[in-house]
Amino acid sequence: MKTLPFSADFLRDLVSEYPTPFHIYTEAAIRENARRMKAAFGWVPAGPGARAATHPDGYCNFFAVKALPNPHVMRILREEGMGFDCSSYSELLLAEMIGARGEEIMFTSNDTPRKDYAKALELGAILNLDDITHIDYLAREFRVPDMVCMRYNPGSLKEGNVIIGKPEEAKYGFTRDQLFDGYARARDLGATRFGLHTMVASNELNADYFVETAEILFDLAVELKERLGIRLELINLGGGVGIPYHPDQTPVDFEYVSSGIRAAYEVRITAAGLHPIRVVSENGRVVTGPYGYLVSSVIHMKETYKHYVGLDATMANLMRPGMYGAYHHVTVAGKEGAEPTQTYDVTGSLCENNDKFAIDRRLPPVEVGDLLVIHDTGAHGHSMGFNYNGKLRSAELLLKTDGTVEMIRRPETVEDLFATIVWDE
Ligand SMILES: *Cc1c(COP(=O)(O)O)cnc(C)c1O
Repeated sequence: MKTLPFSADFLRDLVSEYPTPFHIYTEAAIRENARRMKAAFGWVPAGPGARAATHPDGYCNFFAVKALPNPHVMRILREEGMGFDCSSYSELLLAEMIGARGEEIMFTSNDTPRKDYAKALELGAILNLDDITHIDYLAREFRVPDMVCMRYNPGSLKEGNVIIGKPEEAKYGFTRDQLFDGYARARDLGATRFGLHTMVASNELNADYFVETAEILFDLAVELKERLGIRLELINLGGGVGIPYHPDQTPVDFEYVSSGIRAAYEVRITAAGLHPIRVVSENGRVVTGPYGYLVSSVIHMKETYKHYVGLDATMANLMRPGMYGAYHHVTVAGKEGAEPTQTYDVTGSLCENNDKFAIDRRLPPVEVGDLLVIHDTGAHGHSMGFNYNGKLRSAELLLKTDGTVEMIRRPETVEDLFATIVWDE
């Protein structure tokens, strides 16, 4: 059973001030979840050696900025001890703007533009390299930093999942052999601190999957020590923890995942004399996804071969259903208790037939003027927005812990949309 953290009356008041559609995020729930996640991994040791005071130590989730690139939310996450996983120049700038520095930032890029590396090096971010050729590229163009992390693609040694596909078909990371060559090469070029990363799942709800991933990386850490004498300082388990988009699904239990990883750490890392190694993650979706809602008004009801609910939001506000066929739960505000007696397609106004938020969805009877709330839009919602058909990107609101609402991004205007056109003189 999925419920809303606000009442229909609250929404009606809100809509009189901020016209629909908009995304709204709930600060209290974001903070509580971040604390639970951090507490679950409280056993993770500080890394070896002294760390600058500005650098986080022990467990840290580096929030994948692409999920919700809004500095207001990023500031909240930083207050809760998160770092930032950035993949582009602009994401690095956002992290910088809210005061993140140095090893609070993990730079996990691929096919990386020169300008992006320059910015990451300037900020002192941890470079998480995607390809072995980038080690010599860095040496030639800049320098090989003291700390380097490498992204492992286990190929056929690990099964991927539905969204990310088979690892051997994925463009990311080093092969196993390249990894050994890469650490040796980086050490020859001056690196003294090393991290290891992998990310082979997305929106995965099977908790054991994350424990297995940790086991693979822990075994590699032991092998790196044996074959190259290289001692890892940090193991980054990546992101990919899923969320229960569907009411029948259950969330991943952080405590269960953490205790499985801890047991694997003791058997593999501690027993091999490699303790301490920091264990970190870079989740995005599970950090903010469940705490965002797209609020939209019903502007038309249409009856043809099917029954349609027409919203003022479109796939440009949330493309997951149209792009992946993803399920997003829909609640009709004020009709939470009503029987779902009708079957609707819930659509937007794009000239694309996949502009549907839901197909054959059972809902209570809907009328023009109803407010529909689409759940779980706090990750890859607004951030995946686009301007096709001249649609404008919506506002983002924050429901703060004190119960007040703040607009943290204004809606786009047509002036914004046309700002980049070069007009004839
Ligand atoms: C997208 C991404 C993440 C976050 O993934 P989620 O599914 O949002 O947890 C982490 N690391 C990398 C490299 C990514 O590309």
